[in-house]
This record gives sequence, C-alpha cells and structure tokens, in this order.
Amino acid sequence: MEKTPSGTSVGVDDPYAHVDRCDHCTDGGRCRFAVEQGERDPEFANARSREEFRCPVVGALDEEGLTGPWEWADCPHFRCRNRDRECERCGLEEHRMAHDDERPLLEEHHLSYRSGSGDEDDPSHEISVFLCRWCHAKVHDSWASVDEDANPDPEAIAEREGRRSREQSELGFQSAADRFDVDGSQAGVDDGGEGASDDGADQFER
Ligand SMILES: [Zn+2]
Ligand SMILES: [Zn+2]
Repeated sequence: MEKTPSGTSVGVDDPYAHVDRCDHCTDGGRCRFAVEQGERDPEFANARSREEFRCPVVGALDEEGLTGPWEWADCPHFRCRNRDRECERCGLEEHRMAHDDERPLLEEHHLSYRSGSGDEDDPSHEISVFLCRWCHAKVHDSWASVDEDANPDPEAIAEREGRRSREQSELGFQSAADRFDVDGSQAGVDDGGEGASDDGADQFER
C-alpha cells in the first residue's frame, strides 16, 4: 500500500534518515520499553537492565550525537511515530481549534511498517512522519518526495490562516462575553482584531 513495486517506501529514500529519536527513548537516553514493557521481551529487557536501561543507540549522553553501538535499524523494538506536529515536507504546522472536529491539517504517513516477519534484512520498524494533507496527496498521487524541501501549498496556507483568523475572532467574542467587555480585541492579534467578524472567516470554509 505504501510501498512501490520495488519495495521502497513511498516518498523517501531512507526512512531512518527521518528518525530523530525512538518513541521509547526518554530524554535521559533510557529505554522506556525495557522499563515498562520488559515482560514482552525479557531477554532484551535484561540486557538493557544490565546497562542501566541506557538506549543502545543513543549511548552516552555526555557525548554529542548517537554514540551507542547500535543503529536504530538494529533494535527490535524501535518505533518512531511520535513527532513534532508539522509537515515533514513543507513545515506546515498543525492548527487545531478548541471544540473543533474539523479535519486535521496533518496526516500520518508511514515510511515503514512493522512487518513482524522476523527477517533480519527486512526493515520491520514502524516509522511514520506527519505530512500536511496537501503534501500527503502529492506524495501518493504524483510521487513527490518527502525528502525535498517544499513550500506549503497555497491552499494549505489559506486553510491554516482561515483557522487562525476564525480562532482569533472566536477568542475575541469569548473574552468579550467573559469580561462583559465590548472591546473584544486581543493582545497580539496583528490583523483583523477589532471588528473581525465571522463573515470574514467563513470565506475560507469550503
Ligand atoms: Zn506539507
Ligand atoms: Zn501516506
């Protein structure tokens, strides 16, 4: 599904190049999997335990970079799905509104799935990134590369700005109601603060 016929991941050359940190690795460089789910792989957990649960990829924290003896690809429990909520391709940030069930701007795109085949050469790690809806469509429909640095699609920017201005006008109305204050303008609102209306925001809805 996410693989080309040749078996490579959709949109990237090397899924691991998009890995910052394993989901199980704590800020202190310890393996949370071994600590919390060790019973699922006692052999693995015991080996980590002997090294004070230090991540075998991250290595010593007082050294720069990943200094452990393993690569991410070597670890049987490596997984990378938790990330900053921004598009890996164009950098668009998510913009969720309170009490909002609108479609998220960002979607999860899998670079690699956990296959569970046990084949040593087969990448069996779950690695995903966030892509905005627009880049996601491009990656799937026209084989755009996740690796390239792209600018956000004009539609993506319009959608995000639309949410922003709607949020600002909602905040303005809320705070006005809260404070019984007719002046609903917000500090830090640089445009359309006072007098911004629902009508202005609605034009962005499809
Ligand atoms: Zn994008
Ligand atoms: Zn995808």
